[in-house]
Amino acid sequence: TTFSDLDLAEPLSRALATLGYTEPTPIQTEAIPHLLKGRDLLGIAQTGTGKTAAFALPTLHHIFTSEMDPPKRGARVLVLAPTRELVGQIEESFRNYGRFMMDLEVAKVTGGVSIARQIKRLVHGNDVLVATPGRLIDLLDRGDLRLSGVEVLILDEADQMMDMGFIHALKKIIPLLPKQRQTLFFSATLPPKIKKLADSFLTDPVRVTV
Ligand code: AMP
Repeated sequence: TTFSDLDLAEPLSRALATLGYTEPTPIQTEAIPHLLKGRDLLGIAQTGTGKTAAFALPTLHHIFTSEMDPPKRGARVLVLAPTRELVGQIEESFRNYGRFMMDLEVAKVTGGVSIARQIKRLVHGNDVLVATPGRLIDLLDRGDLRLSGVEVLILDEADQMMDMGFIHALKKIIPLLPKQRQTLFFSATLPPKIKKLADSFLTDPVRVTV
């Protein structure tokens, strides 16, 4: 498989060429076709496998091919990840792969930085919002964020989010999202507790293990 077999939107192909990516990694080859069709996904993958592009590319393709303004104080795509560092890397990846998409709005919210400044970036709405669960709850409690327009939910490193005690935050956040959505659940491991959590969030998911 090559990237051109995946039929990604032109700005994405151009970004991949600029970045020097020639071939998709195994998780990208296996996951991207299903994700482009709107399927839910359970991905068992470690960092370093190319999982970020596996979820960012089809998500950006969806945004590009269904041009819509993001909802006010909301986002079309919500990515949750356990740490500030990982949120930063994911945000950077979306910006990188989406560099040729005009008007793409990507924002992040994490603890440890001024909440007032983050709120300013949220007022107009974003295509992609990347967040740690804790800071997201703070924003929701303050009424500064609406999740009723989310079309795609991505949970990255779900096992680590559980280990860090974010289960309550997730159980509070996810019921605020529309039931009609695409959900992607990534975890490095799949012990029974994580499997149960995944089953509660996913609908008929494709399972990819790398
Ligand atoms: P990740 O597993 O998402 O953390 O990605 C690991 C690294 O692989 C990142 O530095 C990516 O930029 C890089 N990468 C992802 N997909 C590809 C690809 N198809 N070809 C070359 N490098 C890639």
